[in-house]
Amino acid sequence: MWHTPPVPPNEEQRLGALAACQIMDTPHDARFDRLTYLARRFYDADVAFIGFIDDKYQWMKSLTSGDIIPPAIEREKSVCQVMVASGRPLVVGDLHTDERFTGHPTIPLLPLHFYAGVPLLVPPGLVIGSLCVLRGAPGVEEDFDVQPLVELAAIAVDELELNTLNRELTRLTRVDALTGLANRRCFDEELARAGQRCRRTGEAFSVMLIDIDRFKALNDGFGHQAGDEALRRVGAALGGMAARQDDTLARYGGEEFAAILCGSDESGALSVAGRIRSALAQAAIVHPVTGKVTVSIGIVSRPASEIDLDRMIAQADAALYEAKRRGRDLVVCHEDPDGL
Ligand code: GH3
Ligand code: MG
Ligand code: MG
Repeated sequence: MWHTPPVPPNEEQRLGALAACQIMDTPHDARFDRLTYLARRFYDADVAFIGFIDDKYQWMKSLTSGDIIPPAIEREKSVCQVMVASGRPLVVGDLHTDERFTGHPTIPLLPLHFYAGVPLLVPPGLVIGSLCVLRGAPGVEEDFDVQPLVELAAIAVDELELNTLNRELTRLTRVDALTGLANRRCFDEELARAGQRCRRTGEAFSVMLIDIDRFKALNDGFGHQAGDEALRRVGAALGGMAARQDDTLARYGGEEFAAILCGSDESGALSVAGRIRSALAQAAIVHPVTGKVTVSIGIVSRPASEIDLDRMIAQADAALYEAKRRGRDLVVCHEDPDGL
């Protein structure tokens, strides 16, 4: 008689491990299709699939015959949920006559009899999905060699781990190690994206360059390590200031930072600059000459129709230079769209 298997005691950990893979509802991936293809051919099966099981659904990442089995089924209607509870392979000679499945909600509708599945296991033994083969005809459980299926499932899990590592590597190429802010490469990419977006939406666009005042004196006075610590603290103070989701705050160079403010005109950018200056005043990072670390800020803001990214960076730089020239600890906006 069919009894819905109990939710395993490690369900929360299991769901966490599945979420960390970021695999649910992702597009087709030939690497998983190769594994289901091989499983189907090796076992002379009619269907093979790799499915991932969250709290509600079993979703097929790869399915060889979509006309026999749907691309997603409710967890309570899945046969594979048995493996989520047991953590072990499941081989059934005939789903339609095996008494463990009598009264199952979907098996009577299935034109398949033989079932063999192995769990996709991630450390420390959490079942996040399954690799299964099914045949239209019944089979003999004892004759089925499950080991090749176990090995293919292990390759599927290796692919997931590689995916996760690749995502982390990609993330690291965009982050500045010292401050945790976006790095220059990320800034350049986000600048191009933000420029395109604002041109499309017709929103105003601002770029801000922020340079620490007399930073060389801090390095000379307190040492390079204290300089690094000051940079980290300035980064932390800046990090919280760009409030919108599309804003980017980056470490642009040594002791220079930059912000991309999509949808902000000059007054919006000025208010962000004001917040940055008060956050820094509050952080009170000690400076050997000026008392507290301060910054100079150059801003350029343009309407969507006048966005020219290279020119805007040069103009923000010119405004920053002007702030330095006028005595530092200042914000200067580049006013003249026709001049540098
Ligand atoms: P100004 O007010 O004109 O900006 O003066 P400044 O001293 O800040 O400017 P300058 O460009 O002369 O000096 C920048 C200094 O920043 C020089 C460099 O040694 C230091 N610097 C750049 N990157 C790092 C870093 O990663 N760590 C540390 N500790 N110092 C850095
Ligand atoms: Mg400086
Ligand atoms: Mg500088």
